[in-house]
Amino acid sequence: MAGKNWTDDQRYAALSLYFELEFGQFDQRNKKVIALSQVIGRSPSAVAFKLGNYANLDPTLDRKGFSNVSKADRELIERFHRSPERVVAEMARAIERCKLAASIDINRVGASDHNIGMEEAAAAFDVSGRKTTATAEVTVRRGQSFFRDAVLTGYKNRCCVCGLSLTKMLEAAHIIDHSASDQEIHRLRPDNGLSLCRNHHRAFDCGCWTLDENYRVEIDHRMHSLVKHDQRVEEVLTCFDGKDIFQPFRYLPSKEYIAWHRENRFAQVEPVLGQ
Ligand SMILES: [Zn+2]
Repeated sequence: MAGKNWTDDQRYAALSLYFELEFGQFDQRNKKVIALSQVIGRSPSAVAFKLGNYANLDPTLDRKGFSNVSKADRELIERFHRSPERVVAEMARAIERCKLAASIDINRVGASDHNIGMEEAAAAFDVSGRKTTATAEVTVRRGQSFFRDAVLTGYKNRCCVCGLSLTKMLEAAHIIDHSASDQEIHRLRPDNGLSLCRNHHRAFDCGCWTLDENYRVEIDHRMHSLVKHDQRVEEVLTCFDGKDIFQPFRYLPSKEYIAWHRENRFAQVEPVLGQ
């Protein structure tokens, strides 16, 4: 297999792993890298190299080595940015097809066997590219799971405001939220996400704080006057005013989306304390 061009399924399967791993895990000794290399029939070092290529294509970061990336990899990442929902769905199917191919005698695999996955893929979308109802629910769940994993691992599984790393307390927040947009790029692209603990997620959605263009926390100034009545407001919110967030290694939050949050969510509602 070594030396042969990567197939589309192998590229999709590797892209799926890319979004599951944290920075520093793109390594041929990493267990998940080894497991995927066995499934797709490539060496662990080839898989690790591919993950590095994907990192080089992150549009939100200034990476070196961009020019060495293959056209096919570049096109795959561009496709993900345009149509993340379809690419996320295709990643799951590609892994299944690779597993199937790895589990049976390669010489006995007829074209019809290999096409099972392709037919399934075709059935998931009608001719206009819309999802069929039968698969819509699965697609939504898969998308939610993808977004959470891709955002949280990007931030090393901690809240980007307070640093909390208890995974049960962490959520992938949307900067442009569901009620404002149901577009797939807003639902699924990691640059519309922030890794936040539940407190900071809720406070962000309520407009108690936002980010400035240098990725610094800005707290609704009215919060400061509440501190004398409730010290916890300082501990949870105002003590982070002006502080830098922990930045992700992958997909910095989009400045366009942050500007939207500042304009449409930040400080829209008067903060009040319970009586
Ligand atoms: Zn937090």
